[in-house]
Amino acid sequence: MSSTIKSPWLIHYDASSCNGCDIEVLACLTPMYDVERFGIINTGNPKHADIFLVTGSVNERNISVVRQIYEQMLEPKVVIACGICACSGGIFKECYNTLGGVDVAIPVDVYAPGCAVRPEAIIDAVVCGLGVLEEKRAALAAGELPPAELPELPTAADKQLDGVSVRDAAAAELHAEIRDE
Ligand code: SF4
Repeated sequence: MSSTIKSPWLIHYDASSCNGCDIEVLACLTPMYDVERFGIINTGNPKHADIFLVTGSVNERNISVVRQIYEQMLEPKVVIACGICACSGGIFKECYNTLGGVDVAIPVDVYAPGCAVRPEAIIDAVVCGLGVLEEKRAALAAGELPPAELPELPTAADKQLDGVSVRDAAAAELHAEIRDE
C-alpha cells in the first residue's frame, strides 16, 4: 500500500446493487480481509470520508442521492465504482429506468469491475484510489486542483427505448459509418 499521511476513510453507497457487491464490501471488513488494519474505516458521514465507494447502477431515483453525497464530501476526494453495474450499468444497463454507471452522475477515479466484484479487487481499487488521493492532495496544497465538474445530467434522449438506448444507437451508427468509410 502506498504511504499516506491520513488513514483513508470511505463511505459506501448502494445505488441499486443486487447486494452481491455489497456482501463483498462487507467481506473486506471481516477478519479474513480486515481492511481496518490499514486504517481504512467505513464511515456513514460524507464529510468524514476521503473515498466514495459506490455499488450498483445509477437510475432515475438515486442519481440525486449519489450527487448529494459526492457534493458533501470535502476535497480531495476519490470515487470508486465497485462492480460492473457501477462501472457501466452492467446487466441492468438496458432497463427502462437505468441511466448507466456511476460516471453518468459524478466523476469516477477508479473502476473495479466484476460480478460480483471480489474483495481482493475492492482492496486493490482502494489502494489505487489512495494514489489518486495523494496526487489530488498535492495539487490542492499547490492550489492546482481544478474544481470537480459534474457530468451533464442525462436527458430524456439518453434513456432506453425498446431495449436499445439512444446513446447506444448513435454509437452503433457512428461505428457503421467509420467501418464503411
Ligand atoms: S455487479 Fe453483479 S453482484 Fe454486483 S450489483 Fe451488479 S449484478 Fe449484483
